[in-house]
Amino acid sequence: MKTRSTALWLTVGATALTLACAPAAETEDPAPETAAQEEAPESPPHWTYEGQTGPAAWGGLSAEFSACAEGMQQSPIDITGALAETLPELRAQFGEVALRIVHAEHVADAINNGHTIQVNYTEGDMLSVDDTDYELVQYHFHSPSEHTVEGAHFPMEMHFVHAAADGALAVIGVFIEEGEHNDAFDPIWNNLPQEQGVENHIGEVTVDVDQLLPANATSYRYAGSLTTPPCSEGVAWIVMTEPIQLSGEQIGAFTALIEGNNRPVQPLNGRPIVTDQVENS
Ligand SMILES: [Zn+2]
Repeated sequence: MKTRSTALWLTVGATALTLACAPAAETEDPAPETAAQEEAPESPPHWTYEGQTGPAAWGGLSAEFSACAEGMQQSPIDITGALAETLPELRAQFGEVALRIVHAEHVADAINNGHTIQVNYTEGDMLSVDDTDYELVQYHFHSPSEHTVEGAHFPMEMHFVHAAADGALAVIGVFIEEGEHNDAFDPIWNNLPQEQGVENHIGEVTVDVDQLLPANATSYRYAGSLTTPPCSEGVAWIVMTEPIQLSGEQIGAFTALIEGNNRPVQPLNGRPIVTDQVENS
């Protein structure tokens, strides 16, 4: 394989995986008709991917969710018409860190997702984009994909959420297509929490984070938002052009637990989508 000018796409690191659960057990009413009055003032409102508290209603559920309805730079989007440019290089360095994985139905943290399987990072792994350093906070999964490419979904999408010291967020999106069995996901897939909020501590399991990502470092980039409430904008989106593969069995193991945790694509509103992908077809 040719070495690109990007010096280090991802530096391989084996990481210890410790399975844990949500820091505090959620005791949400499954049908919270009067939840607003019952919950503590700081508790964010219940939201879902369907029904009366689904994506079309998010912006009205809380003043703090207003960007979901009023924001002009929302995510996800349909990726089409990307402009070829020379982009600032991405560099990621993964070291030995302890991971925690959770099946979360609803999580309060703004950079956490509702209803997904999420692997939490505790320290140290960095993504650099140009001159900005971001720390990897967590990664999680959506099914089907949230972003689409020329209108088409992939079966799944991974999001690697990174935060800079000043709070700025960068998210790497990786599409997952059906193909070969992917051994790199075995440590995670063998330990998928079957029940929400259940704490599983499983000694130490190693995950090679580098192997979760595509070999090709080219990406689409645009300015967007969190794809879950509060839909905060100012997120630097980096969606990898090359999908990774999981087997149909692996995808099925995830969708047996969670399916339909994708926000519909949002209006582009004139935002540029740029890419360093080289067309060589
Ligand atoms: Zn996500």
